[in-house]
Amino acid sequence: MLIDNERKLRFEDRFRFNCGKELSCFNQCCKNLTLMLMPYDIVRLKNALNISSSEFLEKYTTWHVGAATGLPVVVVKQKNNSCPFVTPEGCSVYEDRPSSCRLYPLVRIKKAEEEYYHVVYEDFCEGHKQNVEWSVGEWIKSQGAEIYNKMNDIFSELVLGIYTSGKKLSGEEIAEFYTACYDVDTLRELADEFGCERKENDVEQMIEGIELMKKKHLNQY
Ligand code: SF4
Ligand code: SF4
Repeated sequence: MLIDNERKLRFEDRFRFNCGKELSCFNQCCKNLTLMLMPYDIVRLKNALNISSSEFLEKYTTWHVGAATGLPVVVVKQKNNSCPFVTPEGCSVYEDRPSSCRLYPLVRIKKAEEEYYHVVYEDFCEGHKQNVEWSVGEWIKSQGAEIYNKMNDIFSELVLGIYTSGKKLSGEEIAEFYTACYDVDTLRELADEFGCERKENDVEQMIEGIELMKKKHLNQY
């Protein structure tokens, strides 16, 4: 994978790309990949599959402690070296596919108020050879990625805040962070124990968990 770090694309900047079933590379991008999930990705996917967040995490993911942040990172478990959601017809969870799948071939960088995108190139991907142009803003909109960016920012603020503070969480705190941020249905069940509000709505409960971690680890509020 080659990331064009030299070019910082803003909303109005343009790039050439198109994707479709007719291309010989169809589905190649869903094989041999490391697919990291953000909290909002998990809420969307577990609801698309009509299972609880704990079932989803157990069945489809693994997690590890990120070397840089010391925080839990959730990754989709591959099946036969492919994403478990890929089918010969394409993505079986397309309407609820994760943020990174939506943005591809772009990667988003958000630092404080600065936001830009890099283009990713992979040898097998024919998309860059297609004669279709998009602005970054058009691509984000066409992929339904705006809400994902917004939700991911709420979480990234927490991760970045802990990272820049240099704070290292204990094993117990890491487990608590995992449940609070990624396992929304368990958080709802244990709301009293965690000391947060119980919300009917999954997104509200997810935000409640993230805000709880900000309060605890960033001394916010
Ligand atoms: S979620 Fe869908 S688009 Fe993303 S890697 Fe899996 S099959 Fe491909
Ligand atoms: S064009 Fe690229 S993104 Fe689209 S199916 Fe082919 S490899 Fe995947």
